[in-house]
Amino acid sequence: MSRNGSTQRYDKRPQRFQYKLVLVGEAGVGKSSLAMQYVRGEFDKDMQTTIGAAFTSKTLHVENALIELQIWDTAGTEKYHSLASMYYRGAHAAIVVYDITQQTTFLRVNSWVRELHRQATPNIAIILAGNKADLEDTRKVSCEDAQAYANDNSITFIETSAKTALNVDDLFSTLAIKLHEENMKLLE
Ligand code: GDP
Repeated sequence: MSRNGSTQRYDKRPQRFQYKLVLVGEAGVGKSSLAMQYVRGEFDKDMQTTIGAAFTSKTLHVENALIELQIWDTAGTEKYHSLASMYYRGAHAAIVVYDITQQTTFLRVNSWVRELHRQATPNIAIILAGNKADLEDTRKVSCEDAQAYANDNSITFIETSAKTALNVDDLFSTLAIKLHEENMKLLE
């Protein structure tokens, strides 16, 4: 094959982009399960709360771009209620997760949001996820309360279920595409 031929093929390759996303929230709310459902399409009901994948990633092909979403999971260290600064460093987005069946996990949301504002880059995109939406019978946090908090703090809110996969793809993929579009605008 000619040198020119291979150069032309190389030029058509999609451009690669990487975005770092951090998952925060109380232990047991389903952060690892959300990441596992999104990346592997699996739910493990016996997932140990203290054992999480510290880092996982998924690549989306959007137009001529390969968008790699690097998902950082606390791997149980969130029980100290404050994470190492390297966890937040360079993060483009954060998902603050609470469990709709545990009021205390929702009451802690604000301190996670404050922690993000303290430690992460000022313009980090934050999404609030009310997880375990499949457990409607034992719901303790109303959609309205969470939506009101999100509105007051100008963040996006969505309810999810890592078990049934409700809104999980939307949560991560929509966020990745939005981050990418904003990044492309900055590069223009
Ligand atoms: P983490 O500590 O925040 O990473 O939480 P895990 O992902 O380890 O989940 C804690 C527990 O909640 C595990 O037993 C999961 O199987 C369960 N879990 C996670 N997400 C859901 C969900 O959407 N629905 C239900 N019913 N259980 C869930």
